[in-house]
Amino acid sequence: MPRPPSVDAVLRDAAVQVAIARFGRQAATAAVRRAMEEVREALKDGGGVLPVGAIAARALALLERAQVPSLRPVLNLTGTVLHTNLGRALLAEPAIAAATAAMGAAATLEYDVATGGRGERDDHVRGLLCELTGAEDALAVNNNAAAVLLALAALAGGRQSVVSRGELIEIGGAFRMPAIMAAAGTELVEVGTTNRTHARDYQDAIGPRTALLMKVHTSNYRIEGFTAEVSTRALAGIGRAAGVPVLDDLGSGTLVDLTRFGLPAERTAADAVKDGADIITFSGDKLLGGPQAGFIIGRRDLVRACARHPMKRALRLDKIRLAALEATLKLYRHPDRLGTTLPTLRLLSRPTDAIRALAEAVQPAVAAWAGADWIVEVVMCRSQIGSGALPVETLASAGLALRPAAKAPGSALDAMAARLRGLAVPVIGSIHDGAVRLDLRCLEAAEPLLAVLA
Ligand SMILES: *Cc1c(COP(=O)(O)O)cnc(C)c1O
Repeated sequence: MPRPPSVDAVLRDAAVQVAIARFGRQAATAAVRRAMEEVREALKDGGGVLPVGAIAARALALLERAQVPSLRPVLNLTGTVLHTNLGRALLAEPAIAAATAAMGAAATLEYDVATGGRGERDDHVRGLLCELTGAEDALAVNNNAAAVLLALAALAGGRQSVVSRGELIEIGGAFRMPAIMAAAGTELVEVGTTNRTHARDYQDAIGPRTALLMKVHTSNYRIEGFTAEVSTRALAGIGRAAGVPVLDDLGSGTLVDLTRFGLPAERTAADAVKDGADIITFSGDKLLGGPQAGFIIGRRDLVRACARHPMKRALRLDKIRLAALEATLKLYRHPDRLGTTLPTLRLLSRPTDAIRALAEAVQPAVAAWAGADWIVEVVMCRSQIGSGALPVETLASAGLALRPAAKAPGSALDAMAARLRGLAVPVIGSIHDGAVRLDLRCLEAAEPLLAVLA
C-alpha cells in the first residue's frame, strides 16, 4: 500500500510556505493535516499516492474557504425588500458615513461637550424623534421586541396588561406576544374574540391591577370578514376615563405618509401620538429604513420610567448604531427627498418600468451564464415589502425567470438556485411556478450582477 508523504515534507513545500506567511503557521498546519486525512481516505479507497503538490493545493483551498467571511454581502433578488433573514433595511449614505466615523474614534456617546460633564446616550435621537412624531419624550433600544419588552416590564410588571385576542401576534422566531408578556412579568388579560373585540370588552376587564391597555399592529396577517376592533383613538378614550395608560405597538411604524411615494397607507408614529396613545413602540430597520433599533416614545413620565428600568441598560444601543440612527432620522427633515436619499423608500417606490428595463438589459448576460439548458425570460412579478410591514399589499415589479429548456426534474430548480447562491457574491432568488425567479426591485444597477456573473 502506497504511503502518503509526511506532514513535515508538505510543510516544507514552497506553496505551503506562502500559505504559512498568509494564514499563520497554526492554521496552515491544521489545514495540511486535514488535507492529509483526505489523502489517507482516498488511499483506503484504492487511489494512488497524491503528490505533495496536490496536498498543498488542497490545504490552500481549505484555508481560502475558511477566510470567506461568514457574514457577507449578497444580492437580494427575493422580491422582499425588508428581508429579515437578509438584514432588513440598507442604510443611507449619511448613516453609513456617521457609523463609520463613530467606529474608529472616541465619540460623545455619553458626554456633553458644552459642560464637559456626563451626557445621556438617548440625547442623540430624543430631540429628532420628538420633532418627527410630536411625542413628549423618546428613547431607543436594541429593536422593537426590546422596546415592547421594556415598556411592559417598566409600566406593567407585576400587574395586568389587557390585549385583544385578535392581536396576540407571533412575529416569527420567538416573538410571541404572550411569551413577551410573561418574560416582562406582566399578566396577560385577553379580551374579545379572534375576529371581534369591542370597547366594552376592554372596559369590563379594567380592575385595580390593570396597568396597561395594549394595542398591537397585526403586522403579518389580516383578519377579514365579520370583524370589529377598537381603534387606538377609542382605546385612548377608555384608558383616560379609567386612568390607565394605552400602549400602541406599531410594529414597523413609519415617520412619513407612505402614500406620497405611491405606497399603501400605513399609520405613522405621529398618527399614534395624535390618536392619544400614551406610549408607542416601533422598529428602526423596517419601513423607517435605519439600523436595527426599537423606539419607545410618548408621555414623559412613562418614557422616563422605561429609561430608569434596569433592563434599559441591557437593551441599549451602541455608538455605531446611534450614529447611524441619528443620521437616518435627520433625512426625515426633508421628506420630499426621501424617495432618493433613503434606500428603503427608494427601492419600494421604484417605477416598474425602470425595473423592467434593467431586467431586459441584464437578460442576455444571465442567459449566457445559465447556459443552453436554460431559458431566461423577462417576467412581471410582485414584490413584498417584508418584515411584516403591510403584509397583504404587494408592489408591481419585474425580473427574470430561469426555466429548464427541456423537461427536467424539480430538483433542477433547486440546483440552479444553489448555483446562484454559490457565486462569489451569493445571488438569492426564489422558486415560483416552475422557474427560479430573480426579482430585480433591489438591484439598482446592472453592474453588481454582471460583475458576479462574469
Ligand atoms: C416586527 C414587529 C415587532 C418586533 O420588532 P423587531 O424590530 O423585529 O424586534 C414587534 N411588534 C410588531 C407588531 C412587529 O411588527
